[in-house]
Amino acid sequence: MESVEHPVDIPSIPFAQRPIIILGAGIIGCATARQLLRNGFPVVLVAEYLPGDQNLFYASAWAGAAWHAAGGIRPEYRYYQAITHRHLLKMAQEDPESGVCIVDTREYLEDPPTDNSAIWGKTVVSKFRALKPGEYPTNFVCGWAYNTLVTDPTRHMPYLGKQINALGGQFIRKRVESLQELYDMFPDSCIFVNASGIGSKTLSDVRDEKCFPERGQNVFFRTNNCHTMYFRNGKEYTYVIPRPLSNGVVLGGVKQIDNLSPDVDMDVARDEIARAHRLAPEIVPEHPPEDSLHHIIGIRPSRQGGFRLDSEKVGSRIVLSAYGFGGGGYAFSYGVADTLVKMVETAERENVILS
Ligand SMILES: Cc1cc2nc3c(=O)[nH]c(=O)nc-3n(C[C@H](O)[C@H](O)[C@H](O)COP(=O)(O)OP(=O)(O)OC[C@H]3O[C@@H](n4cnc5c(N)ncnc54)[C@H](O)[C@@H]3O)c2cc1C
Repeated sequence: MESVEHPVDIPSIPFAQRPIIILGAGIIGCATARQLLRNGFPVVLVAEYLPGDQNLFYASAWAGAAWHAAGGIRPEYRYYQAITHRHLLKMAQEDPESGVCIVDTREYLEDPPTDNSAIWGKTVVSKFRALKPGEYPTNFVCGWAYNTLVTDPTRHMPYLGKQINALGGQFIRKRVESLQELYDMFPDSCIFVNASGIGSKTLSDVRDEKCFPERGQNVFFRTNNCHTMYFRNGKEYTYVIPRPLSNGVVLGGVKQIDNLSPDVDMDVARDEIARAHRLAPEIVPEHPPEDSLHHIIGIRPSRQGGFRLDSEKVGSRIVLSAYGFGGGGYAFSYGVADTLVKMVETAERENVILS
């Protein structure tokens, strides 16, 4: 019988050994790597900053990071957050090293909730109840109590790094100037995930003009009273996020567009302490001792119109984009990672079946 030449290019590394390449080792790249590895895919992560690093532009080192239902988002985005909650809850219950904790929450609302507000979160969090008048300050119209999850990034990122190594994933510390540089490093890989956060603004073959840096600056206040989260829902953006494993609370917040300063702005810090004191006077004194405070500064990788989560064919490769998570990367992380696993499976299935 005459052999028929197949019209499709066959990758030279066979399926089982062919790594999925991820650019970026923040919470999005690392959560995705973990989920891919747990599903049997070999993974290589290439990034300038790796778990455990602290750099202004490495947002994942600085997040609050509370799970709070985002208002005004599409139903499928709510589901990503719900899936994340499920993963984080399991870690909180089974793995204290993950840095994830269940905390009691008080959320006070400046305005009554609308259908498209954070109210949908009550289907996900546990022990949700509306507070009775008298249980919330009189300057708010209503309030909620529930249990949610906080992730201590100083523990979670190193934990993820360790898990990825244990599952056989590989980290390469390297800055690249383009995705093409990555394709050239891995000519036999077919699937690339761009989880480069704010890096997507400058990569020469991405240059996403919708990306913008949004500076955050928080105050960490050392206290043993660190088991309840307070959240002000409305025009004023104030939170007190507990870090039970680090004996403290994170006071915030502020969002400063296009400000890249690495220096502490003491006016911002003083204002955050004052706002946090008004929100949770039982935790935050009006004048906390200087030696109980330190400052956290990071650049959120924000994007006009919201994050990108999509798949493109670039020549013979599939490029999955997952960046632009702004102030919600932790709350979306594992839901996005599970979705990327499904996208990778769809793409690899086509490579294997050659249909
Ligand atoms: C003060 C503050 C408070 C926050 N609070 C919360 C919160 O309460 N809840 C919440 O969900 N989120 C919160 N966030 C947001 C959260 O931190 C981010 O959404 C999240 O960390 C983004 O993760 P990422 O993996 O997309 O990006 P990053 O963590 O920024 O990672 C990007 C990765 O890409 C790599 N990279 C980029 N460009 C290149 C390149 N050219 N070459 C090689 N590598 C490259 C970087 O080195 C890095 O490894 C907060 C953020 C800040 C700053």
